[in-house]
Amino acid sequence: AIELRGVHKAFGDVEVLRGVDLTVATGEVLVVIGPSGGGKSTLLRCVNLLEPVTSGQVLLDGEDITAPGVDLDQVRRRIGMVFQQFNLFPHLSALDNLTLAPRKLLRTARADAEQRAHTLLERVGLADKAANYPRQLSGGQQQRVAIARALMMDPHVMLFDEVTSALDPELVSEVLDVMRDLAGSGMTMLCVTHEMGFARELGDRLVFVDGGVIAEQGPPATVLDEPRHDRTRQFLRKVL
Ligand code: ATP
Ligand code: MG
Repeated sequence: AIELRGVHKAFGDVEVLRGVDLTVATGEVLVVIGPSGGGKSTLLRCVNLLEPVTSGQVLLDGEDITAPGVDLDQVRRRIGMVFQQFNLFPHLSALDNLTLAPRKLLRTARADAEQRAHTLLERVGLADKAANYPRQLSGGQQQRVAIARALMMDPHVMLFDEVTSALDPELVSEVLDVMRDLAGSGMTMLCVTHEMGFARELGDRLVFVDGGVIAEQGPPATVLDEPRHDRTRQFLRKVL
């Protein structure tokens, strides 16, 4: 589970998150939507400590990970993150992209890491692409490798930041299929997305972030079909 308590984040004088309280229960799929610049990516980056919060707390499975002295590497191992740009290592095969972190950070033996990597590549439908380099893969395949790579560390939580936004439309569904499988397996997921179909189908809860605050939240169908606030309505009119 993830819990944010009164999280503020400023860059210089600019307050980007202005008091966010949010809980993602274990096994829950939380979908975050909202206009560009509203603070969605910053929110995710504060959760896995890529950005230090200015004030407030982030709890992971009940532990305050924003407390002084917390081991950042330990925390990040328990949180998988996938970005819009696939961020694979271009000079490594799909297999080596998956095995690098476990081998370096956990000192996992190569054979064990590769065995797990093959299992995960199969899970994302890429059993036959282990030897391919990123440039030899489609965008959808690269993104599935990125998801498999994040799963190598056996994270408790997965963060997804617009992972289908850079893909050609016909490649979106193969990535959403992997996310659906992951949600079905009980993974705790925090997903920023513009895929309202995905939000409706898989989201346990939908959060609308605007101006650095949660402006509205609720069951996806309720927020999408009967938004209570004007700015939610305005946003949805543009994206639906
Ligand atoms: P998008 O939908 O375009 O991805 P977003 O909701 O993810 O937008 P953020 O990327 O979180 O928005 O950005 C929120 C605000 O914070 C923006 O005004 C952005 O310019 C600012 N910002 C983000 N990162 C930094 C940074 N490292 N330094 C200064 N300002 C930043
Ligand atoms: Mg963003």
